[in-house]
Amino acid sequence: MSCKMCGREAEKGVYCTQHGLAYANLEDGYPKWRYALGLSWVEYLERVGKISGTGRWVKEIIANILS
Ligand SMILES: [Zn+2]
Repeated sequence: MSCKMCGREAEKGVYCTQHGLAYANLEDGYPKWRYALGLSWVEYLERVGKISGTGRWVKEIIANILS
């Protein structure tokens, strides 16, 4: 199976190691934002996608989910 983002080999699930980590980080960070700011998942992704420190892998995942 290959990563749905970049086509690299996906060891488990739909993402490769890098994209899988990026997605896991996004999921881990969400509860904090949800409780603090009351953001929906999509609102959270939009916010994180605009932060300059957000990594390339994470931004790719966000762009894919929001598209
Ligand atoms: Zn990938």
